[in-house]
Amino acid sequence: MIQTVLGLVSKDQLGFCHSHEHLFLADGQPAKVNPVLRLDEYNLSISELKLFKSVGGQALIDAQPLGCGRMEKFLAAASKDCGVNIVASTGFHKMAFYDKSHWIHSFTEDQLSRIFIRELTEGMFVNTDHSPPSETVSFKAGNIKVAYDTERQFDHEKKWFVAAAHACIETGFPIMCHVESTKQGMDIAEFFIKQGVPPHCLIICHMDRTLDELNLHRELAEMGIYLEYDTIGRFKYHSDEEEAELIVMMEESGLSCQILIGLDTTRARMKNYGGHLGLDYIQESFIPLLKKYGLNNEVIHQITVVNPAEAFSKK
Ligand SMILES: [Zn+2]
Repeated sequence: MIQTVLGLVSKDQLGFCHSHEHLFLADGQPAKVNPVLRLDEYNLSISELKLFKSVGGQALIDAQPLGCGRMEKFLAAASKDCGVNIVASTGFHKMAFYDKSHWIHSFTEDQLSRIFIRELTEGMFVNTDHSPPSETVSFKAGNIKVAYDTERQFDHEKKWFVAAAHACIETGFPIMCHVESTKQGMDIAEFFIKQGVPPHCLIICHMDRTLDELNLHRELAEMGIYLEYDTIGRFKYHSDEEEAELIVMMEESGLSCQILIGLDTTRARMKNYGGHLGLDYIQESFIPLLKKYGLNNEVIHQITVVNPAEAFSKK
């Protein structure tokens, strides 16, 4: 089963899924760092979600964790209003998304792991951007986000990562790791495996940003770890053609069963916020391109339907 904001759905009910999106993001520290991250207008995000649904979209993973702009009530309302499965995230993001006085810095490993577990088993906390978790709602998270930002952050805030490992082992929900390079993807995978997290509970994000060290892509996938290619349509990193070639390479290596895709959207890319891409982009532009590169419907179904259902299911 996969745990959406409106409850559990079975693997065959999840449907066509973007495995890394940001549907809402409140005004606050992340938007101070980067104004295009703010996605706080319910009607605009809903229109974008309807656009996604109109081209066959059935599910998405919202990758914003608690304490830094997650809008849990909007996620549940949007899922209800549009009939799209939405999985919310507990866990933590990059250090820059928390100001110096944020509670997350002073909470102990044990407190953090109890908070993450509670969000996955009882209900998410609300209003945690400026004050420590206290009030909850009944909607639960179904994914544990972590962010490996810099080595300094990793050494300094190891308790955050250990708490996430405990929450995964205790609940069976997956860990989704933000990384800044391919090598960091391998480092964080090794760390979590040492902590006792099974490889098939690990999802490494942004693995397509740098398109380097492709041997590490294969190595990670062969371990059973999921790789997320979520910079589709982000031409500052690479072209869609290069992205398609990467997916073909993985498919030819027999590893398409470990690939997840998404757009990792911001307001600069959502059409309803005035952006240029839209949540319909994968269906309308990228999948036709994948077909031109020779990927058949079965492989596309695997990457967009079967793999997300496996990756985000409770183990
Ligand atoms: Zn993201």
